[in-house]
Amino acid sequence: MTVRSFDLVVLGLSLSSSWGNGHATTFRALLRGLAARGHRVLFLERDVPWYAENRDLPDPDFCTLGLYASLEDLEQRYLADIEAADAVIVGSYVPDGIEVLDLVLERARGIRAFYDIDTPVTLAKLEKDEAGYLARRQIPELDLYLSFSGGPVLERLAREFGARNPQAFYCAVDETRYAPLPAAPTWDLGYLGTYSPDRQPALERLLLEPARRLPHLRFVVAGPQYPDGIDWPANVERIEHLSPAEHAAFYARQRFTLNVTRADMIKAGHSPSVRLFEAAACCTPIISDRWEGLGDLLPEGRAILIADQTEQVVSALTEIDEPVRLQIAENARAIVLGAHTGIARAAELERHLPAAERATLRDTSSSRRSRRSAPLTALIAGGAGFLGSYLCERLIGEGRRVICLDSFRTGTPENLRTLERDPRFSLLEADVCEPLPSSIEVDRIYNLACPASPRHYQADPIHTLMTSVLGARNLLELARANGARLLQASTSEVYGDPDQHPQQESYWGNVNPIGIRACYDEGKRAAETLCFDYLRLHRVDVRVARIFNTYGPRMRPDDGRIVSNLIVQALSGRPLTVYGTGAQTRSFCYVTDLIDGLVRLMEVPENPQTPINIGNPEEYTINELARLVTSLTGSTSPIVYEPLPADDPQWRRPDITMARRVLGWAPRTSVREGLAATIAWFAGPAAASAVIRIQPPRRKLKPAAVAGLSA
Ligand code: UDP
Repeated sequence: MTVRSFDLVVLGLSLSSSWGNGHATTFRALLRGLAARGHRVLFLERDVPWYAENRDLPDPDFCTLGLYASLEDLEQRYLADIEAADAVIVGSYVPDGIEVLDLVLERARGIRAFYDIDTPVTLAKLEKDEAGYLARRQIPELDLYLSFSGGPVLERLAREFGARNPQAFYCAVDETRYAPLPAAPTWDLGYLGTYSPDRQPALERLLLEPARRLPHLRFVVAGPQYPDGIDWPANVERIEHLSPAEHAAFYARQRFTLNVTRADMIKAGHSPSVRLFEAAACCTPIISDRWEGLGDLLPEGRAILIADQTEQVVSALTEIDEPVRLQIAENARAIVLGAHTGIARAAELERHLPAAERATLRDTSSSRRSRRSAPLTALIAGGAGFLGSYLCERLIGEGRRVICLDSFRTGTPENLRTLERDPRFSLLEADVCEPLPSSIEVDRIYNLACPASPRHYQADPIHTLMTSVLGARNLLELARANGARLLQASTSEVYGDPDQHPQQESYWGNVNPIGIRACYDEGKRAAETLCFDYLRLHRVDVRVARIFNTYGPRMRPDDGRIVSNLIVQALSGRPLTVYGTGAQTRSFCYVTDLIDGLVRLMEVPENPQTPINIGNPEEYTINELARLVTSLTGSTSPIVYEPLPADDPQWRRPDITMARRVLGWAPRTSVREGLAATIAWFAGPAAASAVIRIQPPRRKLKPAAVAGLSA
């Protein structure tokens, strides 16, 4: 597979000087790896006196190093590079990091990433809002958040801080500098690290105390800043300073090396230090303190020894056979060379960048819009229908812009009467089966475009099937082009005549593929398939609602479904038609409850990755429903029984556990209340004026009106 080569700009604390910071070695390993894999990197570093005086890599051969004196200087000299790069990565602890990141977020055309080499520290600071190098508000704007810590912290970054794409991105070892050297071990156990009060108790427990108990063995601690007053046993040698060039030789001279972890890293877990990888690359077996995630990196007992107590170190040093010791070291080295070198990390970045690019594409419209703080625009296909018109009203009521797209085959302009004059509302008469105008700019797409009543969808079954399939395809393409979210109105009909009751989302259904209902059922099933393929392949953020029987005011008198039929019949004194024995069941949801479920599903931040049932589990036999309508209307109409249509499902009730859990949604309106409101509407003047037009003459699409929509 050929991998595309990237032009990257990295803004980091320091590359030129490793004095007093761990960032330089991290960047060096990664950038060497990137260069080896054919990528070009411009590393930009603030020219500060401390690093200027202590430059141990003033002229790297694996990237271009640029120094800048101030923010103005950065902008003047490097803005063009920042703008043009495929990706710009800003590291933690960059001086004036917030301003630098603002510049990058505002101007970079490529991926904007943050590389947090200090994740636990950053999060602690952000909680108090005092991280000088990153502001909370910037996190959701980033296309990629590379984090030195993995595990649960990534979820926290997403959930609490709104990071869109957090990825573990550990430190890496430069395997050319950290490799086994021939040397006879001088020390049985060593430790390399600057003094730190939070590590000292572990050093005491896992090295100094074993040294006291094993006076015949030899120990070493290398590193600066250990205060006076530490009780060093006589068999512990001290080395005050060890330059990076001497590290490999130092590891070669230890039989075991100790890894001790900072308290905040232990707390976060999943935060390997570079020391760990360096020791492993040098093929020195490691004894480490314990933290969450360590065993996932280096399996305990096979590639590392993990010690909680002094005794475990004592027994490791005295009881482990030489072949076992060597095998542990070999195993660790093999793992680290495979997964934790600069080259491995560069390869990881090659995977993250295109994924972030795709995510950026998806989110462009919404984030650009949010920066302009314009209201979200929703396209509602089928917006003039029964459900669609309620949805239009709901979203306009929330201050959104709404584009209603409808063919008026079953939807009616009367349904939109309250919206016509609203400046945020526009109407586009079009058939979703036809390609959609590319000028449409939207953030949210609701696909409600399909007749839902058996009478209507069976009137032109071929067009019904095409509406579901081509409509979904066209709208998914629009969502893809716009980076918009799409909600597909699916149906309980995907379960067919179910042999599971109540129906859970995991049930695959029992559908007759060639029956008279198939045009609707199979069309909706195919639309679901398309939705999940677009989610998998094109990462379109699709949500699928499986809608169960819904009723309410504004249903067409000629709708043909049970609730409107019974009410119209009862109110007009005609016999109530019940098909079959009337023992079949349905569960009825009031329209505003249903709409609330759809909006929640659309707006729930995390993609549920599964269809979700939206319906009211209140289940009635058709006979019971007919009796309820009779009593609520005070009708004296008789019930007449007519033949049951083919493939009519025998029972239907949603299991809404998923909707409750994921959306916090449940219906609020009882069937009795909802029917009363619906009956009142049908009895009033609005229903009388509801026009019955199954297939009005098609009006031509007005290109000018369409173009105006994106303004
Ligand atoms: N039904 C009925 N009388 C009618 C209309 C429908 O008995 O006038 C029955 C229909 O056979 C089905 C149930 O009521 O068993 C619900 O039908 P509807 O058309 O409302 O929707 P479906 O759930 O079948 O899609």
